[in-house]
Amino acid sequence: MTATGAPAVAEEAAARFRELYGAAPDGVWAAPGRVNLIGEYTDFNDGFVMPLALPHTAVAAVARRTDGRLRLHSAQAQAQATPQAGATAQAGAGAQASRVVAAGGRRGVVELEAAALRPGGVPGWAAYPAGVVWALREAGHPVGGGADIHLTSTVPTGAGLSSSAALEVATALALNDLYGLGLTGPDLAVLAQRAENAFVGVPCGVMDQMASARCTAGHLLHLDTRDLSCRQVPFDPAAHGLRLLVVDTGVRHALGDGAYAERRAGCEAGARALGVRTLREVPYDTLPEALGRLDDPVVRACVRHVVSENRRVERTMALLDAGDVRAVGAVLSEGHASLRDDLRVSCPELDLVVSSALAAGALGARMTGGGFGGSAVVLAGEDAADTVASAVADAFAAAGYRAPRVFPAVPSEGVRRLL
Ligand code: ADP
Ligand code: MG
Repeated sequence: MTATGAPAVAEEAAARFRELYGAAPDGVWAAPGRVNLIGEYTDFNDGFVMPLALPHTAVAAVARRTDGRLRLHSAQAQAQATPQAGATAQAGAGAQASRVVAAGGRRGVVELEAAALRPGGVPGWAAYPAGVVWALREAGHPVGGGADIHLTSTVPTGAGLSSSAALEVATALALNDLYGLGLTGPDLAVLAQRAENAFVGVPCGVMDQMASARCTAGHLLHLDTRDLSCRQVPFDPAAHGLRLLVVDTGVRHALGDGAYAERRAGCEAGARALGVRTLREVPYDTLPEALGRLDDPVVRACVRHVVSENRRVERTMALLDAGDVRAVGAVLSEGHASLRDDLRVSCPELDLVVSSALAAGALGARMTGGGFGGSAVVLAGEDAADTVASAVADAFAAAGYRAPRVFPAVPSEGVRRLL
């Protein structure tokens, strides 16, 4: 904390904002990345998920404008796909004035017109915050005055830890507060998801944005993605002599995007063939009978994964309620087998995390997020956690892979105003 009582990260973001835009921001907001303990590929099937917020956050320093301009800057933009400084980005018929300004000490500031935002029209990272403005306007919220925004984030990008949702949700709460919109966390999450789906063009479910908006410190968020009802489930592995680790493999295989869309299509085909709106409607105890009615092996595998994964989320919640956190390990490993063998969204690096962690004495492990790279979660006894982490690192070295990044998953706060 600093003299004003705000965390140092907020003061730093405010200082950088002043350098960029020549005046203080109206406020500073933070939204976390997340890691999903269990419930994968269920959130576009109206199913259950159980993420926790990470201590890693996206921070947004923001000031309201009145002239309809939107100016966007990210401290990490150089590392992201950003248009060349000084270039004017044009995007076909829906082109909008999108300029990246290099002059006047405002290197890398992207300038846009709020009223001219069109889906697909903003290239690179700026599409995430711009998409939030677009989604708010589309939903009739009066944010047309525009804003100056500086973003900085400690959430690793493309690691399956939702750096994109963190940017969106921090931006969404900032605009909500500055424009007095009175929207709830779930409202903002749904608008942020719409920004990512329709404006950026990424067909994600609602888990990431809901986790960033609704998670609380010390808890997992049990989320029913059908009606967005939430339950905060206390989660303190240390109190049970355990540790939950995140292992970021540092790889991201290119086939991920197409494969995600294919699995979605497989789930939708399964629901149609079974005469239900979504696979959520298929009770676990009717699964064998449901599978018997499906011919296509790919569709059958999608149905088996989603229906059994929803069940695994419910089993996990029951185990946590009963105080049997150790037993969650086996459920995680079962979930990994389903993602690897049925849904086929794992990859050699993720499989190696799981097999080497289990061989070194972990209680359970699974890939988390969309797969094809990204991260895994590992549940281990406190006494075994360091051995497990080095066993995974050794296995990666022996396989010739880049060293993975391992850190504890400490359940942290959701979106909030810092300053
Ligand atoms: P994930 O959300 O799992 O990290 P995504 O592919 O959904 O992966 O989102 C990553 C993208 O989000 C990056 O390629 C970039 O465009 C954007 N992004 C995330 N964090 C930042 C940041 N700090 N600055 C600029 N862009 C960012
Ligand atoms: Mg994302």
